[in-house]
This record gives sequence, structure tokens and C-alpha cells, in this order.
Amino acid sequence: MKLNERGLLVVISGPSGVGKGTVRRALFNMPNHDLVYSVSMTTRPPRPGEKDGVDYYFVSKETFSKRIKENKFLEWAEFVGNYYGTPRDKVEEQLDCGKEVVLEIEVEGALQVRKQMNDAVFIFLVPPGRKALYQRLINRGTEDQALIDARMKKADKEFMLAHKYDYIVVNDEVNNAADRIMAIIRAEHAKTERTIHNYMKMIGE
Ligand code: 5GP
Repeated sequence: MKLNERGLLVVISGPSGVGKGTVRRALFNMPNHDLVYSVSMTTRPPRPGEKDGVDYYFVSKETFSKRIKENKFLEWAEFVGNYYGTPRDKVEEQLDCGKEVVLEIEVEGALQVRKQMNDAVFIFLVPPGRKALYQRLINRGTEDQALIDARMKKADKEFMLAHKYDYIVVNDEVNNAADRIMAIIRAEHAKTERTIHNYMKMIGE
């Protein structure tokens, strides 16, 4: 039985290359959950295999700028030369329907969400070491050396922002990291401050 009416906003963030996408997919493959993924909008070109509307909404810089002006993003950020943003309407709609909405976004955007939605849960996904992150970016093979260096430089600054999050999860192994995130979501769900209102109603009936 669910004691929360409004869904939970779960923000998974962390340096680029830490494996946010892989961990998120493992999380969604777990049984018995009520999670929905918020598909972001980006101006970066699709990588091989990526699908519009599934991985991202791929748009031009003009379309993205127009949406910023119309206040259509819950948050947005420029990341190594491209723009990324979370469409506001869909997130609100799903939360109102009681869904758990998962955002997988970079650090600057996560901190913007923090300012607007303090009751969201903020999870910082980290690699098991700086070298491990560098190796992952190399192994991914989707960026050239200059972009990898830019992403590492950015990651070094982001590592220092861990204290702004509610939880730190180490991505030492994908399924372990996904398990830890699911445990956090389930525990957050049962938090007294989220459930007391409906609990009191239930008890009074
Ligand atoms: P990539 O180009 O590797 O897909 O993503 C680059 C970075 O942008 C990653 O850290 C990814 O999590 C982040 N990102 C993806 N979507 C969004 C979004 O809507 N907002 C923000 N702020 N970052 C995002």
C-alpha cells in the first residue's frame, strides 16, 4: 500500500563517464518498480544507436534557445559545448500521477533542481577512483582525446561537490550501484515526512 500521493523525483548525477546511463538502465531493468525516465533534450548529435525520443530529444540550438526563453526547462546546462535540459511539463505531470521520476543529469543541472525542488532525492554517482573514470572515458570510445581531457577537467571540479547531495553511491559494479539506488528510493519512500499526512488519515478511518 502506498502512503504517498505525489511521486518522488530522483536525481542521479555525477561526472561524465561514471556510468550514469548504464546504472540507470540496470535500475529500470529491475523488477517491481514504478520508475519513469525523464528523457532530456540536447543539441548534441546522436551517437550511433541512439534514438530520438528514447535516449534524448535531439534538437537544434535555435529550438533549445527558444525553449529556454519560454521557461520550458526545469533545469538546463551547457556541457562541453552542447546544451542539455529537462523538459519541465512532463516531470510535473508524472509526479502528479504518483510516478517516481528519474533524472540522469550533470552536476550543474542537479544543483539547479536542488534550488527548486528540495524534496527531491539527490544521488551522486562516483567512480571507484579518478583513474577508473579516465579509463572508462577512453574505453567508451565515443569522444576524441581533447573532449576526454575536457570532461576530466570538469570531473575534477565536480568531485568536490559531493557534499551537496543526499547520497553518494560508488559505481564499482553496475548491478551493485543499481541495487544501492533502488534501496535508497525505497527507503526515501517510507520517510515519515513523506508519509505522515496520509498515514494519519488512514489511521483515523
Ligand atoms: P552525454 O553527451 O554523455 O550523453 O551527456 C553529457 C552529460 O550531460 C552527462 O553527464 C549527462 O548525464 C548530462 N545530461 C543529460 N541530460 C541532461 C539534462 O537534461 N540536463 C543536464 N543538466 N545534464 C544532462
